[in-house]
Amino acid sequence: MIQPVAVIGAGPFGLSTAAHLRARGLPVRVFGEPMVSWRDHMPAGMLLKSTPAASSIDAPQRGHTLADYCDAAGIPRLVTDEDIIPVETFIAYGEWFQRQLVPGLERVRVVSVDRRRGGGFELKLDSGEQFAARAVVVATGLAGLAHLPRELAAAAEGGPAPTAPVSHSSQHHDLTRFAGQELIVVGAGQSALETAVLAAEAGARVRVVSRGRGKVDFGAPPWRQPRLRPESPFGRAWSLWAFSYYPHPYRYLPAPARHYLVRRVLGPLGAWWLRERFEGTVPVHEVERVVRAEAAGNRPVLTVRTLDGRTRQLTADHVIAATGYRVDVAAMDFLGPALRTELAVSRGAPKLGAGYVSSVPGLYFTGLPAAASYGPVMRFVCGTEFASPRLAKHLVAAHG
Ligand SMILES: Cc1cc2nc3c(=O)[nH]c(=O)nc-3n(C[C@H](O)[C@H](O)[C@H](O)COP(=O)(O)OP(=O)(O)OC[C@H]3O[C@@H](n4cnc5c(N)ncnc54)[C@H](O)[C@@H]3O)c2cc1C
Repeated sequence: MIQPVAVIGAGPFGLSTAAHLRARGLPVRVFGEPMVSWRDHMPAGMLLKSTPAASSIDAPQRGHTLADYCDAAGIPRLVTDEDIIPVETFIAYGEWFQRQLVPGLERVRVVSVDRRRGGGFELKLDSGEQFAARAVVVATGLAGLAHLPRELAAAAEGGPAPTAPVSHSSQHHDLTRFAGQELIVVGAGQSALETAVLAAEAGARVRVVSRGRGKVDFGAPPWRQPRLRPESPFGRAWSLWAFSYYPHPYRYLPAPARHYLVRRVLGPLGAWWLRERFEGTVPVHEVERVVRAEAAGNRPVLTVRTLDGRTRQLTADHVIAATGYRVDVAAMDFLGPALRTELAVSRGAPKLGAGYVSSVPGLYFTGLPAAASYGPVMRFVCGTEFASPRLAKHLVAAHG
């Protein structure tokens, strides 16, 4: 029997990769819940920070862009940099893309991946099925990688949760649960600022705690972007242009530079359209750092060091840590222990070669786990344009 390629993940990267592999004639099995990160782990009412030009899922054939979806759904086309995409529209676009190009998607979890003696991989599904695959593409995105800094973890004994004193921003979809409550959001990125605004608009009394002076800031609106710099999906700047269109050489930068740039380029900065809703509504505490979080009863108490070196305590009904995601192969528990040990990693992220292949032949990574090798563009949907055709080409050449 011909062994298929297994694609684990049905977010933008998994769907795009699967579409490209299918177009090259490979048998592919695709697993996951379509667009689940966007539906369950981001707030309802969220608007995308990326522009329409940077929000299409790459497909091997024409007719599957965000604008094409708008036409097919009979809704106004989202095309200019001033058009803002509601998350609900983006989810519907992803599901439409899946029905069109990845119709056989299997909505089950992969519980383990191990190497087979003699080549290929053995996969187990939570349906109980076990099967052999010639190659595996890991496109599990944000799943399981939410990062809670150690100083906040102490107040979340038993793990962060919406019902505990501290939660992670990925644990919230419906922020109306905080109506009438006092809420602290820790962070200064788009996720922190938008979560704070949406909770405030839902009737919560919200404060943001941000590290450093002047770190809460917003991008320039499209009509104020410098005209003489090259255009990129993230705005006009030489660095953004290089990261967007030339991720190839990124792999050859020294490891400290690669990890630093993945964290620093494009963040933390609020979207231009959020400024008006944020300023005057959400007060900001600028602190040197959060020292620790404790629970007094079920209420969190944050001890912070202020910018003038004093120690202060802040209390609320709940703290949301909008502290992002960290790639760590050790946290990808569906990869068998032997496979995880064998994988070459750099600060927890898989080291990838040409075509997104890891140090284990036949095992590929795309999306966020590939950012340490291919740069910050891999954190965003527009990264599918660079990644998917290259990964598919490499995989077909090596395992087709
Ligand atoms: C608040 C927030 C706002 C964002 N806004 C933007 C934006 O405006 N524009 C932008 O470009 N990017 C944005 N991003 C980044 C965006 O989330 C990622 O670019 C994108 O979701 C990554 O897609 P993905 O396919 O790699 O993973 P995900 O979308 O995270 O999908 C992961 C998939 O893996 C599946 N999966 C996981 N584990 C298993 C398993 N064991 N077995 C089977 N399936 C599994 C899940 O079911 C799911 O289908 C935002 C992120 C956050 C957190």
